[in-house]
Amino acid sequence: VSINLKPFLEKLIQEFSAIASAKEISITSNLKIEDDCATVDTHLFSRIMNNLLSNALKYSPRGKEIQITLNETPDQLILKVSDQGKGISDEFKERIFQKYEVGKQYNDVNQTGLGLAFCQMAVLAHQGAIYVENNQPEGSTFIVEIPREVNFEPDSEADANESV
Ligand code: ATP
Ligand code: MG
Repeated sequence: VSINLKPFLEKLIQEFSAIASAKEISITSNLKIEDDCATVDTHLFSRIMNNLLSNALKYSPRGKEIQITLNETPDQLILKVSDQGKGISDEFKERIFQKYEVGKQYNDVNQTGLGLAFCQMAVLAHQGAIYVENNQPEGSTFIVEIPREVNFEPDSEADANESV
């Protein structure tokens, strides 16, 4: 469905702020765009956000900040989740999107390593892209690009044939 992303994100951010405050992490957002209309699967999209936000929270020390921004181009929306955590070494920048790939060299806790693999699958379902960049002086930014118009039924012709 086509939705207005701003109020949708604001609600998610508000819910997450309560969880983050337990770790004294503040969440700031800048969703200043003119046209926030996009075709998204709301269930998948909220799970993408929850995964990125929970990673940002999990991999940041107490008292840091998480920043969420939404920007636009004529054909796509660009969402960024930025943290002041430990960042991602170059070696891991692509591997972290694979299933069960956890940065074992930094993690002493047992994680399943499924969150980002799910995010990538869900972003690809939106015909978008997800990648990570490191911040100066610390932390990382996960960038999600979602086209405004997504055709969720590329196989509609095949489906039609199937039902014959
Ligand atoms: P799960 O999400 O399944 O509970 P996970 O968080 O380990 O487990 P992913 O979300 O797929 O798995 O992330 C994969 C790895 O990428 C993490 O183990 C961590 O090493 C690294 N990573 C993810 N997000 C961040 C982040 N914001 N800052 C630093 N490292 C991160
Ligand atoms: Mg995770």
